[in-house]
Amino acid sequence: MEYNVSLIFSADMGITVNADSPEEAAEIAYSSDQATPSLCHQCANDVNLGDCVRVIVYDSDDNEVLDDGFERNQITGLSARIAELEQLAKEMAEGIEREQRIIPSVHFERLLSRYREVCGGGKSPQSIG
Ligand SMILES: [Zn+2]
Repeated sequence: MEYNVSLIFSADMGITVNADSPEEAAEIAYSSDQATPSLCHQCANDVNLGDCVRVIVYDSDDNEVLDDGFERNQITGLSARIAELEQLAKEMAEGIEREQRIIPSVHFERLLSRYREVCGGGKSPQSIG
């Protein structure tokens, strides 16, 4: 069996910008031409280059003053969002389970079994979390 594999590299490019704050420096850097670099014709045959996804700003003494860790921040934000949605799903599943005891329905059963599949590993809502 033959597979096509993408090798994902990390790369960086240093530029100098004039700004009033590290945040402004980061903004200027993101909107600069260097944030969307290009490769020579020969290299472009083998390598695809994406847009800038993170900046680290250093002051003139080479001290790091800002690292926006774009991907890391996104992951942190998404993790919080997932936890929030899991909590909401749990509360909804508990409500559906209460309704199911009063008015049993195939639709409720399907929702509850889907909830257990995705969030609960087969447990009922009350025994989770
Ligand atoms: Zn080249």
